[in-house]
Amino acid sequence: MSEDKHTGRGVAWRVALRDAMSAKERTAIPRVVMPQLDPAIRVTNNEEVNQGLTPEQAVLEATRCLDCPTPTCMEGCPVSISIPDFIKNIQRGDVVEAAAVLKRTSALPAVCGRVCPQEKQCESKCIYVKMKKEPVAIGYLERFAADTVRLMSDAPRPARPTSNSLRVAVVGSGPSGLSFAGEMAQRGFEVDVFEALHEIGGVLKYGIPEFRLPNSVVEAELDSLRDMGVRFHCDTVIGKTLSYSDLLEKGFRGLFVGSGAGLPRFMDIPGEDLSGVMSSNEYLTRINLMCAGRPGSDTPVLRGRRVAVIGGGNTAMDSVRTARRMGAERAMIIYRRSEAEMPARVEEVHHAKEEGVEFLTLCNPVEYIGDERGRVCAVKVQRMELGEPDASGRRKPVAIPDAIDIIDVDQVIVSVGVSPNPLVPSSIEGLEVTSKGTLVVDDSLQTSLPAIFAGGDIVRGGATVILAMGDGRRAAAAMAERLIADA
Ligand code: FAD
Ligand code: SF4
Repeated sequence: MSEDKHTGRGVAWRVALRDAMSAKERTAIPRVVMPQLDPAIRVTNNEEVNQGLTPEQAVLEATRCLDCPTPTCMEGCPVSISIPDFIKNIQRGDVVEAAAVLKRTSALPAVCGRVCPQEKQCESKCIYVKMKKEPVAIGYLERFAADTVRLMSDAPRPARPTSNSLRVAVVGSGPSGLSFAGEMAQRGFEVDVFEALHEIGGVLKYGIPEFRLPNSVVEAELDSLRDMGVRFHCDTVIGKTLSYSDLLEKGFRGLFVGSGAGLPRFMDIPGEDLSGVMSSNEYLTRINLMCAGRPGSDTPVLRGRRVAVIGGGNTAMDSVRTARRMGAERAMIIYRRSEAEMPARVEEVHHAKEEGVEFLTLCNPVEYIGDERGRVCAVKVQRMELGEPDASGRRKPVAIPDAIDIIDVDQVIVSVGVSPNPLVPSSIEGLEVTSKGTLVVDDSLQTSLPAIFAGGDIVRGGATVILAMGDGRRAAAAMAERLIADA
C-alpha cells in the first residue's frame, strides 16, 4: 500500500476517513487542540508558543470540514480564500495543492494562519458554529499547509512572470505593501518596494514578537516575492530620502502607499513624561527590531519588575507577554472596559493568562506617580463600571465615584492605539487626508491623485494583517487595469 509522505500513514487511512464517515460521524470529531509550549518554559525564552499541527492532526481536522455547497466560511475571510478547496486538499494528502490554493488569494498564508483573528472572521461563519459546535480550525490548517510546503526541499518555487516593463513603486513593506507587490509582480509589473526601516516586513517584523510569528516565517514569504522579481530597498524614507517627484523621474508609473499607522497615541494624563513610561511601539521595536535584551545588542531596554501595560488590544498582549519574557515578576494589563470588550484575539488573552499575566479590567489610569529621581513608581487607577453602549457598540466605561487604587509599578507601557504615519501624506502635494490623518481613497483605493493608490492602516487607521493584505490585492487589480489600459 502506498504511504503518504507527510503523514507516514497509508493512503487508505485518509480514504477511509473521508469515504467511510458519515457527516454525523465527522461532526462528532472534536476540534483539534494546537500543541503548544509549556507556559512555565515559554516565559523563559522567545520560542514560538504554538507548535503547529502534526500531519495526522491536520488530516483528521480536515476531515471535519463538510465541504458545504455554500461555504459561508469564505464570506468571513476578507480575501475570500477558497477554504473548503484547500482543506479538502489537505484531507486528500495533497499539501502542495492546498498551499497553491491559499497562495492564489493570500500572499502570506503562513502569517495569516498565525495572526488572523479567525474567531471573528472565517471560523465565526463556519457551519459548525450554527450547530453550536466548535468551528473547523481553518487558521491552524492554513498554517499547516503553508509551513509544510515551506519546509519541503522540493517545494515548487514561484516562477518569475514575463515583464510588461511597466514600473510601480510601493511605500512601506508591511502586509498591504507586500500583498500589492506580489499581485503586481504576478501581472508582470516591475515592482520596487521602499522601506524606511532596515528590515522588510513592517509590523510583522518590528511589532509582532517572535513567540507569535517567527521572523523566519516572514523571511520565507519575502523570498517568494524576491523569486517573482520584487526588489526591496531598505533605509529609504519616501518624503525624505526620495520624494514623489524623484520616483516619477525614475520612471515609476504608479505608487502604492502602505505606510501604516505607527504613530503611538498617549492618554494625555499627568506623569506620562516620567522615565519608565513608554509606548508599546517603542518597547516592541527596541526588542523585536533592534534586538534589545539579547547579548551583544547595542540597544538598551528597561526591564521592569512590576510592569503595567495600558490597553486591551493585540499590541497590549504582545507587550505584556514580552515583559514577562524580559523578567517582569508582576506583569499586568490595565484595561478600562471588561474582558468581553477586549479587542485582542481570544487566543492571545488565553496565552497571556497561562503565562501569569494579571488582568485588571474596568480600571482606567488617571495619573502616573514618580519618585524623587523622576522615575515612575506607581499608577493611580480609577475603577470603572459599564454603562450604555457607545458609538463603537461596546458598553461605555463609567467612573465609579471615589474608587481610586494606587498600584506600585516600575515600568508602564502605553498601548492605547496608533495614528497614521504623517510623512507621506504631508510630503505629496494634493493628497487628500481625513481629520484623523488617514488617506482618502475611493472604492478602488485610488487616492485624490490618480497615479497613487493606498491601503492598510494608512487608510484604515489601525486594523488587521488580512484587511491590509486585502487592500493591497484590491488596489493592485485596479491600478494594473488602469496602467495597462493607458500603456
Ligand atoms: P505596517 O505593517 O505598519 O507597515 C508599514 C511600513 O511602512 C512600515 O514598515 C514603515 O516603516 C513603513 N513606512 C512608513 N512610512 C514610510 C516612508 N515614508 N517611507 C518608507 N517606508 C515607510 N493584526 C492582526 O491581524 N493580527 C494580529 O495578531 C496583530 N497583532 C499586532 C500586534 C502589534 C504589536 C501591532 C502593532 C499590530 C498588530 N496587528 C495585528 C495589526 C497589523 O499588524 C496591522 O494592521 C498591519 O501590519 C497593517 O499593515 P500595513 O501594511 O498597513 O502597515
Ligand atoms: Fe481565515 Fe484569515 Fe485564512 Fe481568511 S486568511 S481563511 S480570515 S485565517
